Amino acid sequence: MSSIKLIGLRKDFGQETVIPDLNLEIHDGSFTVLVGPSGCGKSTTLRIIAGLEKPTAGEILIDGKNVADVPPGKRNLAMVFQNYALYPNMTVRSNIEFGLKNKGIVKKKRDALINEVCEIVGLSPYMERKPGNLSGGQRQRVALARAMVKKPRVFLMDEPLSNLDAKLRASMRIELIELHKRLQTTFVYVTHDQVEAMSMGDSIVLMNEGVIMQHSSPKAIYHDPQNVFTARFIGTPPMNVFEGMLEDFSVGFRPEKVLFEKPEDVKHLVINGKVITREQLGATINYSVETKYGMMMVHTDFDTEQTKCTFYVPVSALFLFAKDGTRCAFSDTQLKTLLKL
Ligand code: ADP
Ligand code: MG
Repeated sequence: MSSIKLIGLRKDFGQETVIPDLNLEIHDGSFTVLVGPSGCGKSTTLRIIAGLEKPTAGEILIDGKNVADVPPGKRNLAMVFQNYALYPNMTVRSNIEFGLKNKGIVKKKRDALINEVCEIVGLSPYMERKPGNLSGGQRQRVALARAMVKKPRVFLMDEPLSNLDAKLRASMRIELIELHKRLQTTFVYVTHDQVEAMSMGDSIVLMNEGVIMQHSSPKAIYHDPQNVFTARFIGTPPMNVFEGMLEDFSVGFRPEKVLFEKPEDVKHLVINGKVITREQLGATINYSVETKYGMMMVHTDFDTEQTKCTFYVPVSALFLFAKDGTRCAFSDTQLKTLLKL
């Protein structure tokens, strides 16, 4: 169990500043997810916490202690990567045991630790197999078990599921959530996948170009985005954001808030449009719609083959953004203008 604090963290690679000034507090026992587009500095941040990369400036505190002079092996953190390197000629047991032997832990204690951890991750029946005879998910579990036996104070995971197929990834997600509940250890998890971030994290750190755009709970990041980047990054399909509705501001609303039928007793926006594509997803449908403000996505269970439609968006579902992207509150005049459109 550990807290991590990054203060004024900066990282340059040569002339390029990848992280200008990052301040982040990761709470003890949290499942914190760093999410953002490829190249935004997630792995760099994680590697700096691990001690694998030296910051250009700033401080890293683990449990309140500055770890600048603590080498990676002494930070008591465990890293799990996308490309987990298992020893192909060793059994599952030996792969997991290896790090413990290196630490000089006696045989009896090693066995107890390995058995305990393998029970948790469901590897017990496979202990004598070699990695070549395991599925992708089982191999990923060996990598996890290897990290777990060291009883680290923090788990750092960098896209550990990205090599797995969609079905396995979904079940491993649930396993990791359960594992976190069980261990109550701080997890710092990196992913570029917002769905993965939202489903796993209790604390979401959304980054863009080395800057934290928002750090909050999954609920707050979805329902209360502080800027247009966050509003558009989280949620599929992304939030519709129109510039032509109000002067100097843009108006956003989520595809799942758009209605085909006029709502009774709620103030709403009216938009006419023409359906261009219709994607049947199963229970729900995505429509892409041409409107005078631009393309609009609609996500609904309303099933129609009609193309010329009128759409309704409740006022309570509208977001307002200033030109610089920050979220603002609607003025009465702005609301009146929207209702008259
Ligand atoms: P992410 O994990 O979010 O995809 P990274 O942290 O890996 O992003 O990379 C952030 C930026 O830093 C990228 O532009 C990447 O090219 C650059 N970068 C990362 N590592 C190095 C390195 N060792 N040398 C030079 N540039 C690097
Ligand atoms: Mg990365």
